[in-house]
Amino acid sequence: MKIAFIGLGNMGAPMAANLSKAGHEVTGFDVAGATAEGVGTAASGPEAATGADVVITMLPNGQILRSVAAEVIPAMSPGAVLLDCSTVDVESARAVADQAAEAGLGALDAPVSGGIGGASGGTLTFMVGGSDEAFAKARPLFDIMGQKAVHCGPSGNGQAAKICNNMILGVTMIATCEAFALADKLGLSREAMFDVVSTSSGYSWSMNAYCPAPGVGPQSPADNGYKPGFAAELMLKDLGLSQQAAEAADADTPMGQRALELYRAFVEDEGGTGRDFSAMLPRFEKRGRG
Ligand code: NAD
Repeated sequence: MKIAFIGLGNMGAPMAANLSKAGHEVTGFDVAGATAEGVGTAASGPEAATGADVVITMLPNGQILRSVAAEVIPAMSPGAVLLDCSTVDVESARAVADQAAEAGLGALDAPVSGGIGGASGGTLTFMVGGSDEAFAKARPLFDIMGQKAVHCGPSGNGQAAKICNNMILGVTMIATCEAFALADKLGLSREAMFDVVSTSSGYSWSMNAYCPAPGVGPQSPADNGYKPGFAAELMLKDLGLSQQAAEAADADTPMGQRALELYRAFVEDEGGTGRDFSAMLPRFEKRGRG
């Protein structure tokens, strides 16, 4: 396939390189001049998009996605698919999909989980919103860039799935960290805490697969000085998107709201920027109730 790839950052560059390695003809554009291995360079988004079967975007936020989409949609060929893999607000995803449909194009919102390691290794999970037809067309590309693609329904549903998942993740990580800090104060060893909780009803991905306590459980960013991994500021972004969606949909999400407040304080006032989101444990460790 002829593919345009717009946004060659930490995630986009390795994803584009994997598509090229698999034999697709990939042309990239990044406003910062970033490039990717095996990927041709265009002078603009519309230039990259001209004649492409699929235009992939991997951009920082919904506002940038909207402005890039407004530029590239008129340059795309009828029947081509606009495939956005960024994490953005549900509203922007739906607005861009509507605009693409009006121009006779397919559109998919397909945010990912798996991080930079997943992007490099081609092991991402895609959560996808859009038509069956567009999903079928993009399927071979998902198979190259990832190990799993779940079709979640119409446009916007990929973003909805991503932010709901990450709201659970943020809340359970905080719950796991505060429970470890309490256990410390009660004189329980971290090993005993892990052994019990990971096999009892308090278990979760945060405890079992990504344990925030160093030296306990499987290898995780905690064993590497809390170097991300999944950075706290990215968790903050996703929690912000989930609260934005909750407000728009009139959903009551008090735990998600509290997780947002805690990650905001961590990132903005407590030195959490650039640290893994599981570094909430050393944050709680140092604190009392006051
Ligand atoms: P990044 O900042 O490294 O990359 C974004 C790229 O987009 C940058 O290179 C930037 O120059 C480019 N860009 C910005 N405006 C542009 C424009 N108008 N035209 C062309 N290029 C433009 O970010 P990233 O870590 O690659 O993340 C990309 C998206 O993936 C985000 O939405 C993020 O939330 C999501 N995501 C990231 C991770 C992660 O671990 N990094 C994990 C899951 C999802």
